[in-house]
Amino acid sequence: MSLEATVKYHFPKTASFTGMPPATKSDALTGTDQMAAMGMVQSIAPLGFCAFMGKVGVSKNDAARAVSLLTEFAMQTCDRVAALRKLETDIKPAVLQTLATYAYMDYCQSASSKKPCKCCSATGFIDAEVFTMKSRFGTQRPGAVTEIKRLDESLPENTSYQVRDTERVLCPDCKGKCVVSSACRDCKGRGRAVMEAESKRQGVPVMGDCKRCGGRGFERIPAIEAFRAISAITDSISLATWDRSGKPFYDQLIGKLEIEESWANAALNKVTA
Ligand SMILES: [Zn+2]
Ligand SMILES: [Zn+2]
Repeated sequence: MSLEATVKYHFPKTASFTGMPPATKSDALTGTDQMAAMGMVQSIAPLGFCAFMGKVGVSKNDAARAVSLLTEFAMQTCDRVAALRKLETDIKPAVLQTLATYAYMDYCQSASSKKPCKCCSATGFIDAEVFTMKSRFGTQRPGAVTEIKRLDESLPENTSYQVRDTERVLCPDCKGKCVVSSACRDCKGRGRAVMEAESKRQGVPVMGDCKRCGGRGFERIPAIEAFRAISAITDSISLATWDRSGKPFYDQLIGKLEIEESWANAALNKVTA
């Protein structure tokens, strides 16, 4: 059994803890066996297990635990990086926790994940200017600017005029949902796109890895955001130092999560084999 296959046991819609195994081969374990197996994996590969369960949304506690385990790992390994080693002891944990948090957020990105909409600051609405034709005795819409009132008296009856309103309208990016998909805009999450130069040269559409996302299908959280977050804690790490040694360390934290997840997966496969 894989980690992916355990997810359905956590959501009531499809959960089956009756002890009666469903009729498919991969589910030939009882609910109790499943729980025992997961408990075992949690103790063998805690970081990978929590990271995965947090990523798929099974548990917020697991996500928090994954970040704290990754922070511990960062504390143990950061001495290799001079800039991090030299941090004052009272701010070092905060810096590493920030890096671990960003690394975990990046690890959680996938083409199906959602991120807060930037266009409307995750409120679902934006202020937009609209021009409306009005007549002096026409209906006034709520939110119409005070300009009309000023013009009102001087206008002859039944004349039409334009007013500029500022209205709250549904955010065009997220359609009011406050979140947008993390899927790459160029390839719509497929990871493959038409290579324009090559297609032109060969005269037929040629597919290749999408340039925007490098074939991942979704956009990564820019590493510079992690740098900005740690810059708010300490000014002892310059952008040049970040590029030279901070970012590679940060990338290793993301890699660590991916490795730990595959360990947890392998462990689960083994105990349920
Ligand atoms: Zn929006
Ligand atoms: Zn893409």
